Amino acid sequence: MPVRARRPFRPVPRTQYLEPDPVTRPEPTPSISFSELGLSEDLVRTLDEVGYHESTPIQAMALPVALEGRDIIGQAITGSGKTAAFALPILERLEPEGGAVQALILCPTRELANQVSQEVTKLARHRQVKILTVVGGDPIKRQLDGLREHPSVVVGTPGRILDHLQRHTLSLQGIRFVVLDEADRMLDMGFAPDVERILVQTPERRQTMLLSATVPGWVHRLAARHMKDPETVSVTGRTELVPTIRQWCIECSWAEKDEALCVLLDSSRVTLGLIFTNTKRNADQLRTTLLARGYDVTAIHGDLSQHERDEAMARFRGSRVRFLIATDVAARGIDIGEISHVINYDVPATPEDYVHRVGRTARAGRDGVALTLITPIEILKIRDIERHTKRLIEHHTLEDLRQLAGSAAALVG
Ligand code: ADP
Ligand code: MG
Repeated sequence: MPVRARRPFRPVPRTQYLEPDPVTRPEPTPSISFSELGLSEDLVRTLDEVGYHESTPIQAMALPVALEGRDIIGQAITGSGKTAAFALPILERLEPEGGAVQALILCPTRELANQVSQEVTKLARHRQVKILTVVGGDPIKRQLDGLREHPSVVVGTPGRILDHLQRHTLSLQGIRFVVLDEADRMLDMGFAPDVERILVQTPERRQTMLLSATVPGWVHRLAARHMKDPETVSVTGRTELVPTIRQWCIECSWAEKDEALCVLLDSSRVTLGLIFTNTKRNADQLRTTLLARGYDVTAIHGDLSQHERDEAMARFRGSRVRFLIATDVAARGIDIGEISHVINYDVPATPEDYVHRVGRTARAGRDGVALTLITPIEILKIRDIERHTKRLIEHHTLEDLRQLAGSAAALVG
C-alpha cells in the first residue's frame, strides 16, 4: 500500500453547511383532495375529521388504481401515508359484516401491525368494521376469542397468522384483499417463505396490494408469482438533506476501518451514535469487535428476534446504550431526536440509502453530523452522493483524525 502524503487539516467554515441549497428543494406537487380520487362521502368526511385534508402523493397515485380492484405495487418512503393508500380502498369495498375474514394485512413486526391496526380503526370510525390484530407475543386465547367474533379485517405478522392457519382457527377462504405491508422489511427478516405459504391459502380471485419503501428483486419475484398483472406506482422524489447536517468522509484502508471508527467513538461529541453496516453479518462482527474493545454498543438487524430488537431499541432510545449498529432496513422509521452522529461504517449501496441513513440525525431542527468511512476507491461513491444531494462532503484522512483526536479542536461536531 503506497504511503499517502498527509494533507493538512483545514476546517471548513460551518456556515457552508448552513446555507440552504435551493437545488435540493423537492418539486412542489399539486395536492389532490380525496373526493377527487373517487372515495365516498362518508370516508372523505372521516378523513377531514382526522386531519387528512389532502392526499399524499402515493395516495393520489395508488387510490384510483386500487379502487378499480387492480393488484398494485406501491413504493414510497416511510411516513408517506402508505397505510391509508391501501386501507381506504379496502374500507370502500368491504361487504358489510359478511361473516368471513375479507381482508388480510401482513406486517413484518408486532409494532407495525399495531400501528396499521390503529390507522385502519381510525379510518373505519364511521363504518361497522371489526378489525383484529393477530401478532406473536400476544396471548393466543385473546386472539381465539377475537377470531370467533368474525372480524372482517385481520392485521398480523406472518408467523402468528400461519400458526392460526395450522390450528384451523383462522380460515382465509373468504379473503378478497391481501396486503403485504413494508414488503422489503419482511424480506430483510426472512419472512418470504411464510408469506408465500399464507398467500397460497387465499382464493385466487383476490386483490393483492404490496407496499414497500424500496422494491428489491425479492419483491419483484414474489409479485410475479402471486400477483395478477400488478400496476406499479412509485414516488421516488429526491429526499432532502436538512441543512443543519455536517458531512464528513474519512479515508482509510480496509484494515484501518475499525481503528478509524474507534477514534470517532472516543470523541465525547458523539453522545448518541447510530452506526450503519451494509449487511447483518458486518453488523454482528462489528458488535463483537466493539464489545471486545469495551464500547457501550448494541445492534439491531432482521436476524434478531423481535424481543432482542425491542430491547436494543428501548436501550438506545432511553440513552442507556451509546452506540447502536443497524442495517438499513432495520433502522427504518427510527425517529430519535437525540442522535448526534450517524456513522456509515460501510458506504451505503445507493445515494438514496445515504440520504435515508443520514436523515436519522439532525431531526426537528437539531444539529447532526454524518461520518462515512471510505477506502480510497470508494471516493467515487462519495462523488455520486454529492451529485445526488448537491452538497459537498468534507474529505479527511485517518491521519487528520488522529491529529485532531488529541487536541481540543471540535472533532466531528
Ligand atoms: P408509511 O406507511 O408510508 O410509512 P403511514 O401510513 O404510517 O406512512 O403514515 C405516516 C403518517 O402520516 C401517519 O401519522 C398518518 O396518520 C399520516 N397521514 C397519512 N396520510 C395523511 C394525509 N393524507 N394527510 C395528513 N396526514 C397523513
Ligand atoms: Mg407503513
